[in-house]
Amino acid sequence: MMKAIRKFFSTFLLVELAKGLAVTARYLFSRKVTVQYPEEKTPLSPRFRGMHALRRYPNGEERCIACKLCESVCPALAITIESDSREDGTRRTVRYDIDQNKCIFCGLCEEACPVDAIVQTQLFEYVSHSRSGLYFTKEELLAVGDRYEDDIASAREADAPYR
Ligand code: SF4
Ligand code: SF4
Repeated sequence: MMKAIRKFFSTFLLVELAKGLAVTARYLFSRKVTVQYPEEKTPLSPRFRGMHALRRYPNGEERCIACKLCESVCPALAITIESDSREDGTRRTVRYDIDQNKCIFCGLCEEACPVDAIVQTQLFEYVSHSRSGLYFTKEELLAVGDRYEDDIASAREADAPYR
């Protein structure tokens, strides 16, 4: 009986509404933790595993030596490499594709690479409406590396003490 009376007055006096408004008032002037993405961005770790890139040395030479370690370590079989020897006897890839429809962004390719050729950048704002749009060729991966080399180098430098 008492329980029913309490419930009646609680409903009649809008107690639950007052409790809800009290919570709103409590957080109204506290520090905001949400950001207005995409205008505002949160900081990214130097280890962030985003879009792949192939890097070059400062003289323009490709870093990749076609050892295929990244291809063999990839658990998703997302990397396809074909290689050939150049006239000077060095080995280079003639095909280096990453199918990001398969990629799980584990970072193992980056870890396996002995010359820091394949890396994952901090780029994550890209999209495609077709599967072919997420299939990246060697030329496209090198272009990403060329464009973002400064960011890639500074992220690796920041992470170097912890590797
Ligand atoms: S991040 Fe992982 S799944 Fe993606 S290509 Fe590299 S090794 Fe393969
Ligand atoms: S990207 Fe690195 S691991 Fe992969 S084939 Fe080239 S040198 Fe080897």
